[in-house]
Amino acid sequence: MEVLRNISLGQYSTMKLGGMAKYLVIADSLKTLIEASEFAESKKIPLIVIGEGSNTIWRDEGFNGLVIVNKIKGFRQTLENDSGCCIDIGAGEEWDKIVEKSVELKLTGIECLSLIPGTAGAMPVQNVGAYGQDISQSLITVSAYDRQTHKMTILTASDCHFGYRTSIFKNEQHGRFLITSISLLLHKDSPLPPFYPSVKSYLDEHNLVNPGPETLREAVIAIRSSRLPDPRVVPNCGSFFANPTVSLDTLRRLEENYGSIPHWTVDSGERVSAAWLIDKAGFKDYIDPETGIATWPGQPLILVNRSAKRTTDLLMFANKICSEVERKFSIHLTQEPELLP
Ligand SMILES: Cc1cc2nc3c(=O)[nH]c(=O)nc-3n(C[C@H](O)[C@H](O)[C@H](O)COP(=O)(O)OP(=O)(O)OC[C@H]3O[C@@H](n4cnc5c(N)ncnc54)[C@H](O)[C@@H]3O)c2cc1C
Repeated sequence: MEVLRNISLGQYSTMKLGGMAKYLVIADSLKTLIEASEFAESKKIPLIVIGEGSNTIWRDEGFNGLVIVNKIKGFRQTLENDSGCCIDIGAGEEWDKIVEKSVELKLTGIECLSLIPGTAGAMPVQNVGAYGQDISQSLITVSAYDRQTHKMTILTASDCHFGYRTSIFKNEQHGRFLITSISLLLHKDSPLPPFYPSVKSYLDEHNLVNPGPETLREAVIAIRSSRLPDPRVVPNCGSFFANPTVSLDTLRRLEENYGSIPHWTVDSGERVSAAWLIDKAGFKDYIDPETGIATWPGQPLILVNRSAKRTTDLLMFANKICSEVERKFSIHLTQEPELLP
């Protein structure tokens, strides 16, 4: 195992910000992952495992511990019957390549999660979702190295306590499990409507009827490419805030003042578009000269790094947005990408 020292963390976040890590190991096998975990234990230093850093923001102070970059590969079809099949995926696989392969195999279940940056192993962490699908709908098990028992373990989907952009990996068991692979159940039937509104509009505009998974992937890629910045070109971490959930009374109060507001009814209340709130709080197409951070034109939920050199600048701008949304609507926004350590 090669242990790298004093590594700039900016290259391990698509926001391109952050201080230095004391140690870093690229783990392309289970053996290296376990050795790296033992190295951190023997040195009594903290450990963080990441994939591509597309949902990670590193503090300017850096990390006085060990970062493991998970690069464990693997794609294997397992149980198969007339209606579907299971696939086991190494945690370090690039997620979009997995969606591409599954669509080539004419399998349904993850096609709307096309073009999401990051690795397969990070998908369960915040129950990644888009365009009406999330990973909890297909996930059967997560295999992980348990740092508490020092053994490999298998967690079922119900063990993961999935919620909207959350799971045990983000909350009560944060840092305990180093995910090594995930297993998904995908289907051979064609995807069933109703499709997410923007996907349906794309299908209608292009006269695409009875879409298979490849057509839905094409639609999602076209929509995402036209609306979202490519993190390889413009540093960003996708949506910076989660859509807040409010009570029906709060939604009615807002609608009395502002007219119709994009929202969805969920079990816990009414989920309101954070992009709409940020837009109406005055941050549409906004470039902040003080911090070098901007909102992405047409999608103010995405904060992009135009010229910032410090995470402090990013957090300062995010705080400006939160304060203004709170002042104007009395709604608290929560940050989606994880601030580490
Ligand atoms: C342009 C853009 C668009 C995006 N669109 C979406 C979207 O539509 N929906 C959505 O939900 N997200 C979206 N994201 C966020 C991001 O792509 C996902 O959260 C993705 O799953 C992160 O993968 P990663 O490998 O980069 O994770 P990282 O940023 O490296 O890690 C994220 C978290 O997972 C943990 N983690 C990573 N790997 C492991 C592992 N093997 N074991 C244990 N813990 C691990 C890390 O410690 C960290 O807490 C977007 C991001 C960008 C830049």
